[in-house]
Amino acid sequence: MFRHDIIIVGGGLAGLRAALAIRGADVAVISRVHPLRSHSVAAQGGINAALSKTDRWEDHAFDTIKGSDYLADQDAVAFLCQDAPARIIEMERWGTLFSRTDDGMIAQRPFGGAGYPRTAYAEDRTGHHLLHTIYEQALKNGIMFYEEWLVTRLVADGTKCAGVVGYNLKSGEVAGFQAKAVIFATGGYGRVYRRSTNAIINTGTGCAVAYRSGVPLEDMEMVQFHPTSLFGTNILITEGARGEGGILTNRDGERFMKRYAPHVLDLAPRDIVARAVMTEISEGRGFDGGYVHLELMHLGADRIKERLPGIRQISMDFANIDPIEEPIPVQPAQHYSMGGIGANTGCETALSGFFACGECACISVHGANRLGGNSLLETLVFGKKAGENARSYAGSADFRPPEVVDNAVTGESQKIAALLGRKDGEAYFTLRDELRALMDEKVGMFRDGKNLGDALGAIRALKARFGNVGVRNSSRSFNQELVGVIELVGMLDLAEAICIGALARTESRGSHFRTDYPARDDANWLKHTLLTLTPSGPRIGYKPVVMTKFKPGVRQY
Ligand SMILES: Cc1cc2nc3c(=O)[nH]c(=O)nc-3n(C[C@H](O)[C@H](O)[C@H](O)COP(=O)(O)OP(=O)(O)OC[C@H]3O[C@@H](n4cnc5c(N)ncnc54)[C@H](O)[C@@H]3O)c2cc1C
Repeated sequence: MFRHDIIIVGGGLAGLRAALAIRGADVAVISRVHPLRSHSVAAQGGINAALSKTDRWEDHAFDTIKGSDYLADQDAVAFLCQDAPARIIEMERWGTLFSRTDDGMIAQRPFGGAGYPRTAYAEDRTGHHLLHTIYEQALKNGIMFYEEWLVTRLVADGTKCAGVVGYNLKSGEVAGFQAKAVIFATGGYGRVYRRSTNAIINTGTGCAVAYRSGVPLEDMEMVQFHPTSLFGTNILITEGARGEGGILTNRDGERFMKRYAPHVLDLAPRDIVARAVMTEISEGRGFDGGYVHLELMHLGADRIKERLPGIRQISMDFANIDPIEEPIPVQPAQHYSMGGIGANTGCETALSGFFACGECACISVHGANRLGGNSLLETLVFGKKAGENARSYAGSADFRPPEVVDNAVTGESQKIAALLGRKDGEAYFTLRDELRALMDEKVGMFRDGKNLGDALGAIRALKARFGNVGVRNSSRSFNQELVGVIELVGMLDLAEAICIGALARTESRGSHFRTDYPARDDANWLKHTLLTLTPSGPRIGYKPVVMTKFKPGVRQY
């Protein structure tokens, strides 16, 4: 058994920022992939902060809250926006090569739903630059890493966290990690959907593991769809492309956003633009196969090469299109998980000593719809906060008895041995692909009671079929089939949670759009959904939204 005061699960931006807040203490980071392969590295468009003298954090907070369709907790948003400039300057000092204005300041571009150009960027490879910087800092500070370990269990001793159990992907070893405090920074669960911009490792095992330990999940029905993923592969084409002046057009060459968001057009928040694109396609104004055009040609070659080299490369490599000369074919795809492990502004969860930050957490700063550029920011602001609070918790806590972790290791070893013993049966990917298609079709951008009810039934049928899944590969080393099976258990739980929340929420708010309840209903639904796994199945509950000074208003752009 391994033993550290604090264990961080996740080597993306949130996990590594947490680790830096604890440097010097007995801390280790566990990650299923090399940290630089975390999805943070793929972030493109930028990171928000009121850096300019003519911008204010209060305006950033207002934009975020309006963007969230008033579901975000306003105390958490205030903290996010106030702390933002310091976190960006810190990254700059640590070495991030932000793009610059002519007078040498950090350049900022307009982004969807923001009333000010406050998205700082490093070309269109912002996540790449940030993650490399923070990883260098982690190495410099001697942070210890356990790479290629998949955490399959969060261990609790009554109401206190005792550690985690990990599966070594390289050797097949199952081992316990005893810890006084554990931080999950395990990222999103976008791959529960078929069309997604997310890395293939974003299957949500972290959220599922926490849920299985009795920690409630919050606002799972709030799933973000990005309006512009590359048609065919669904690789992201950043909102920064529209921030730089790119426009969306339909098959008639019409700039259709004028009908949906007359004031801000293509720079409306994502939920609104994504629904507009889908409406154009479903009403026959899209192109065959289901896409619209993103035009950048008018920006000119110089600007595209300087500001958007990454998306030009992606378009050339994956669609054989040079955006300097031709429009990019785009369609909406799942992009971000607003819901996740329920946590407060201190990143504390329902289990003492267990903290969550980054995309896996629901703190909630994004409410029903996240603004672009606020997620990278969340990883740094709340990564730091989670690290500080875990350190102070561990300072006065004891290790729980090692037997608790040992027993969990025995349980996980038996489960894995049992899976490896099931030679015959259905292939896990048949179930996984059915699940993903089902989520796209019935739990996507436009929802209704009938489809959600059907989806819930179908997910439960898949859960029953899971009992017959076989594992043909008995290798202990890099057994991707076994990993796929372990992930599928969690994906089915998360999909069920999304469906239950969405079916219950009989209103439309942000990314959650019910065609049978198209209006927002503040009287009944200005509240967060909480889903707890009990021995008799998922139990739904609610908690109020923290409101401070922003009263819910009409959300027009
Ligand atoms: C293509 C793309 C572009 C984006 N662009 C932007 C942008 O421009 N601006 C913005 O604000 N946001 C953007 N986002 C969102 C943002 O990048 C992410 O929300 C954020 O980077 C998530 O960081 P994280 O640290 O929480 O998780 P991740 O970076 O996803 O890291 C998760 C970590 O957890 C580990 N892990 C997961 N499960 C386990 C387990 N069971 N056991 C062990 N380890 C585990 C993984 O190995 C990984 O290290 C983008 C997202 C995508 C997909």
